[in-house]
Amino acid sequence: MSDTVPMRRAAQRPDAESQLRALERLETECRVRGCRLTRQRRAVLRALLAEGGALSAYELLERLRRVDSRCTPAGVYRALEFWMTAGVVHRLQSTRSFILCEHPEAPHPGQLLICRECGQVIEAEDKGVVAAAIRLGERLGFVLDRHLVELTGVCGPCRAQGRAGDSGRSPTT
Ligand SMILES: [Zn+2]
Ligand SMILES: [Zn+2]
Repeated sequence: MSDTVPMRRAAQRPDAESQLRALERLETECRVRGCRLTRQRRAVLRALLAEGGALSAYELLERLRRVDSRCTPAGVYRALEFWMTAGVVHRLQSTRSFILCEHPEAPHPGQLLICRECGQVIEAEDKGVVAAAIRLGERLGFVLDRHLVELTGVCGPCRAQGRAGDSGRSPTT
């Protein structure tokens, strides 16, 4: 569909320079909003940037503890809550993990396509999907407060490599 704007391309480990630029952009954004950047908040952001994909809270804690043994699960959760409220991090409910938003400058509805083979996540914003969700809500008497839609499947590169998994099965809920 022409109004679909993919915001995250195939999972590539970002090079050091673009990583640094992204980090500076997020930290500037944070300062503009008057938010305090604690050591743990920065560390969580850096770990997600370095990963270039989704991480669970436990994986984040593991990575953070490699450089700072004082990191606690509660601290990681607080930092994640902070970044989610700021719109910088999205929570993937289906995989209980966290991923950096591709354009945290403004709140936005969108879709996250998750590959169950390699774990890559593509963030997209298809206005047709958003409008359909709102219409569906209205029809059933719902006012939606979370517009992020998670869709799972097998990505193009994985399918090309024959990692189609059990794609023949019917979709699950
Ligand atoms: Zn986003
Ligand atoms: Zn994949």
